[in-house]
Amino acid sequence: MPNRTSTAASSSKFATMRIVIMGPPGVGKGTESERLIDMFGISHISTGAIFRDMFETDDPIGAIAKSYINRGELVPDDITNKIVRQRLSKQDPNQGFLFDGYPRNINQAEAFDVMLDDLNLTLDAVINISAPDELTIDRIAGRRVCSSCGAVYHVLHKKPNNEGVCDVCGAPLIQREDDMKETVRRRLKIYNDLTAPVIDHYKDKPFLHIIDGSGTMEDTHQAVMDALGVAP
Ligand code: AMP
Repeated sequence: MPNRTSTAASSSKFATMRIVIMGPPGVGKGTESERLIDMFGISHISTGAIFRDMFETDDPIGAIAKSYINRGELVPDDITNKIVRQRLSKQDPNQGFLFDGYPRNINQAEAFDVMLDDLNLTLDAVINISAPDELTIDRIAGRRVCSSCGAVYHVLHKKPNNEGVCDVCGAPLIQREDDMKETVRRRLKIYNDLTAPVIDHYKDKPFLHIIDGSGTMEDTHQAVMDALGVAP
């Protein structure tokens, strides 16, 4: 991932915020996550990115995860919960975090509650960004990622300065295998069947914020800022 620069917000109360961001693939969750971690100086904990990093090493779990990911299926909960617990236990308790892509089903949400409890941590915000399926499918079809640092672009909405080349590190941009249309449909079905019910898990919590992600990225960002109470 690109290096993060801290801003004034990183020294504010937002620097310790513990956030979960949810939403279907293609809703703009990744872009919004990057903006929040930049603004607040918090850690980005993306289970998808952790698995993709594991591909690069000889980690046997990476090889197992890859077979699920390339089919657009969820990696089994026992593997996923274990890597989250390991990552969370390394987290500086004085620094906030943003979970992106976890929890992804009710079983993970319940396991996450136990992990947070064990570490004496509480969440400050669960942000759910939603948009209709057809819109998110189109957005994903144009998504490109850097083959080296993982920075995310879009052929229409977030073009790199030089076509096909990452602005951050100069490596070639690629289309993720699991961003192909058929795989995306499968991922969306899984999202609707398994992940959307996780919102219900948090429905009685005062920190659940439902955000409309069908407008521009800027609209989504503004709605998130309002929900978190960040002054303009
Ligand atoms: P993402 O980058 O969040 O879209 O995740 C890419 C892929 O990684 C997903 O389609 C899943 O195959 C896998 N993955 C990421 N997070 C999880 C999770 N919490 N549980 C199971 N599989 C996951």
